[in-house]
Amino acid sequence: IEDFFQCFQISCQGATSITTFVVFLCDKIEPALSRAVFERTARDIAEDMKNKFPDFKSNRANLEVCILRYLAEQENFEYFKQYLTSPKQFFQSYIERRVKSHCLDGSSRLRMFLESSLESLYGNILSAVSLSTQIVKDKKDREDKISLWLDEFCGELAEVINLPRSELKGIEHQEVTDIEFLSSAMAKSLIDLRDRLIKELADADMSSFSRQPHTILAEHFSGCWQQCPFCGAVCTNTMQNHDGDHQLVFHRPQALTGFKWYGTDHFVIDICSSSVASDCSFRFHDYQPWTPYRTYRNAGPPVSTWRILPDSSMQAYWKWFVSHFRTQLEALYSQKFQGKGEIPYAWHRITKQEALSELERC
Ligand SMILES: [Zn+2]
Ligand SMILES: [Zn+2]
Repeated sequence: IEDFFQCFQISCQGATSITTFVVFLCDKIEPALSRAVFERTARDIAEDMKNKFPDFKSNRANLEVCILRYLAEQENFEYFKQYLTSPKQFFQSYIERRVKSHCLDGSSRLRMFLESSLESLYGNILSAVSLSTQIVKDKKDREDKISLWLDEFCGELAEVINLPRSELKGIEHQEVTDIEFLSSAMAKSLIDLRDRLIKELADADMSSFSRQPHTILAEHFSGCWQQCPFCGAVCTNTMQNHDGDHQLVFHRPQALTGFKWYGTDHFVIDICSSSVASDCSFRFHDYQPWTPYRTYRNAGPPVSTWRILPDSSMQAYWKWFVSHFRTQLEALYSQKFQGKGEIPYAWHRITKQEALSELERC
């Protein structure tokens, strides 16, 4: 800055004009650049996780398999309960936890992401300065050089940071003719700005993001979250508010939502897709009339919005789960796995490993 003022006196220009201009512009750039750094970093982190973690490489069905594997490994009934009752929230908190541990696991990965975004955006600003200068300096006949320079500068940065040209009207009439000089003054001031931001970023944590990386990542796994009214499994349609019926491939034992046989406290361990082929009837509340499973749609919404095809195949995973967490399920619903709800001997013999292997093959 010292050199710059000395030179400036020699060139007999309005030094104050340049100083005013640079200070004003950098004051506008700083918050915009900081916001852009966090926005870009959030996107970069989401992208990085999609590339590095098998959980996030593919679609929601694949993520669900990973979550089921995680639940089985943890063997914590509370986690299962959260997943079964609020699958969407469970997915989101699972993604959030994975993102946090990836960014903050002592590897200073968050800071690396932030600094690399800053470097790249800082580079964009420097090139915008030099490009605008190249374009404007040759237009000797123009008196509105500053205004032209700002047009070029903002236009150049439009894609990377939010710096509306309209907010810079206050300085566009500064009397500056030596554009190259302005350019070098900008470059100097930008170095200080960058140093200040680097210090700021060192203290950043996940709460510094206005749009969280895990929110961006979770958007890749959006879709329909309606749960089967009988077993609670989630519709597999990838569109929210989709046309047509809700559908899914693997229904689960109805005991998972607390279904019981009439007049008893015995769980129903059948899956909905075999119930719809049976001669049984159902109702959700005592005041409702009975509806035969074969014509389940007659029960009205939400049941009528589901397409449940007869299919008796049940995933080994849920057989393992019911057998493994039998006591907890009985306590949760104050019901018993007895009578028609007796757990078949074959279910007890399924190991967790077998359950997981089958899940991954599907
Ligand atoms: Zn179902
Ligand atoms: Zn659906």
